[in-house]
Amino acid sequence: MLDEVRALLILQDRDRRLMALAKDLEKLPVDEARAKSKLAGDEAAVAKAHDALLAAELKVKKIELDTETRRTTIKRLKVQQFETRKNDEYQAFNHEIARYDKEIDGFETLELEAMEAVDRCREALNAAKAAFAHTQKLISEDLASIAQRQQRMQAEHTEVAAERATLATRVPGTVFPLYERLMRTKAGLAVAPMAEGRCGGCHMKVIASTAINAQAALQITQCENCGRILYVTD
Ligand SMILES: [Zn+2]
Repeated sequence: MLDEVRALLILQDRDRRLMALAKDLEKLPVDEARAKSKLAGDEAAVAKAHDALLAAELKVKKIELDTETRRTTIKRLKVQQFETRKNDEYQAFNHEIARYDKEIDGFETLELEAMEAVDRCREALNAAKAAFAHTQKLISEDLASIAQRQQRMQAEHTEVAAERATLATRVPGTVFPLYERLMRTKAGLAVAPMAEGRCGGCHMKVIASTAINAQAALQITQCENCGRILYVTD
C-alpha cells in the first residue's frame, strides 16, 4: 500500500469518528426536548386537575349561596306571615314557605353530591401531582445523563480533532486537497478498498487498468466512476 494512502486511511478513520460524534451531538437537543415535553404533559395534567377542583369547589359555594338565599326568604316570609291577620294569606305564606323548604332539601342533596365531587377532584389532583413529581425525577436523571453524554462526546471530539490536525500535516500536500474534496462530496468516504475488481465506495466494477494500478500501488489510483482513491489490502 502506498504510504500516502496509509496516511489517508488513518486520517479518514479520525474524520469518520468526528462525523459520527458530530451527528450524535446533534441528536442530543432532540432527546432533551423529548424529555422536557413529557414533563410539560404532566404539568398540563396538574393544571387541568387544579382547574377541575376549583370548578367543583365553586359549585358547592353556589349551592350554599342558593340555600342561604332561600333561608333569608323564608325568614322574611315568616315575619310577613306573623304580621298578617287574614287566614287565607296566612295559609298562602305557609304554602310558599313549604315550597322554599323543599327547595332547600333538594339543595342539600345536591351539596352532598357536589362535596363528593370535590373530594374526587382533590384525589385526582394529588394523583396528578404525584405523577408529575415522579416524571420530574426521571426527567432530571435523563437530563443529567444527556449532559454527561454531551460532555464525554465533546471531550472526545476535541481530542480526535487535535489528533486529526497532526495527522493531516503528515499527508503529502499533493493528495490532501483531493482527499478533502472527496470527503466532502462522497458521503465521508474518500478512500475505498477495491475487492474483486469492484470499488468499495460505489460498488461498480472498475476497468482493468484501474484494477492493475490499484493492485500495483505505485501511484494514487482513483475509481473512474466515483473518483474515490482505491487501495488493496496488503
Ligand atoms: Zn467508485
